[in-house]
Amino acid sequence: MADENNLNYGEIRRLKVPLPFSLRYVNSYIIRDVPAEDADSADRYTVIDPGLHTSDAVQVWTETLEAWGIAFDQIRQILLTHYHPDHYGLAGWMQQQAGGVPVRLSRLGHEHAVRLWGDGHAEYANELRQLYLSHGLDVSLADLMVPHMNGFVPQVSPQPVITYMEEGEQLTFGGRTYNLLHTPGHAWGHLCFHDEAGKTIFCGDQVLPLITPNVSLLPGSDPNPLNSFMISLQDLEQLDVEQAYPGHRDPFRTWHERVRELLTHHEERLTYIEEHLIAPMTGYELCRLMFGESLTVHQLRFAMSETLAHLVYLRELKRVVESQTENGVTYFHRQPLY
Ligand SMILES: [Zn+2]
Repeated sequence: MADENNLNYGEIRRLKVPLPFSLRYVNSYIIRDVPAEDADSADRYTVIDPGLHTSDAVQVWTETLEAWGIAFDQIRQILLTHYHPDHYGLAGWMQQQAGGVPVRLSRLGHEHAVRLWGDGHAEYANELRQLYLSHGLDVSLADLMVPHMNGFVPQVSPQPVITYMEEGEQLTFGGRTYNLLHTPGHAWGHLCFHDEAGKTIFCGDQVLPLITPNVSLLPGSDPNPLNSFMISLQDLEQLDVEQAYPGHRDPFRTWHERVRELLTHHEERLTYIEEHLIAPMTGYELCRLMFGESLTVHQLRFAMSETLAHLVYLRELKRVVESQTENGVTYFHRQPLY
């Protein structure tokens, strides 16, 4: 059933699409185009981030659109802030329901989607396993990453046919014009849509209320994602925003305060890590220290990659030093050992 907490902001409606993990739901936005005054044709809609492909999500979409009196063929385009499965996964299904309408994503985002969910997915899962092994994760836990990653494939299938969109473009929907902003860090190729005149933003997972967006070091991706994340936040802090529509939790108005909180959170975490690296530690040892040991595979992946993102950031600033043992395991420490 559609959740009663779905909200309505003028032409913008928020739909909570269920997720089978601890985030619980992702926000999809359905935005009605403002019709010309003499128009007698049916309303047309833009969908942002349709969700993960599960039977529950399909049911919520089908029932909600019916309740709202919207047919799938009234959707004229689907926009994706980023390639993560909980945003991208249902796009192919919805594209088919809507009669092959454009699904738009950044080129970088699409490259990642193909690597993670297309033909290269088995190779990618193995690269992730190798990355974690090199940072001290136990073999038995690293092995779990392969079936875990492969398990997402049905939830992101069918793959949509993608039309690219990039920073610098403007998109008009719901009677408003949005600037596309490239905001990497949470995901490479992540885009935000900013309505400068209306002071609103669709910010995907780059800025979330109440929860801290995950920043992950991943194989073959952004070599310093936390640096990208912080730079993106500093840029976003300059925007005029009075209403933000995030990918999770509720739309919020405290934009500048929230951006500042996220920057402070990471600065504090970096200091914490630096202070604990008096003696050499692996990424996994530090991960356990920060996130504990009773994690699901899903949580462990986020925790490991988040820890590594911080370590790489500190290493690039020469605040910590990296060294390798003979068996290829990487250690980080505050002072050179020699
Ligand atoms: Zn995400």
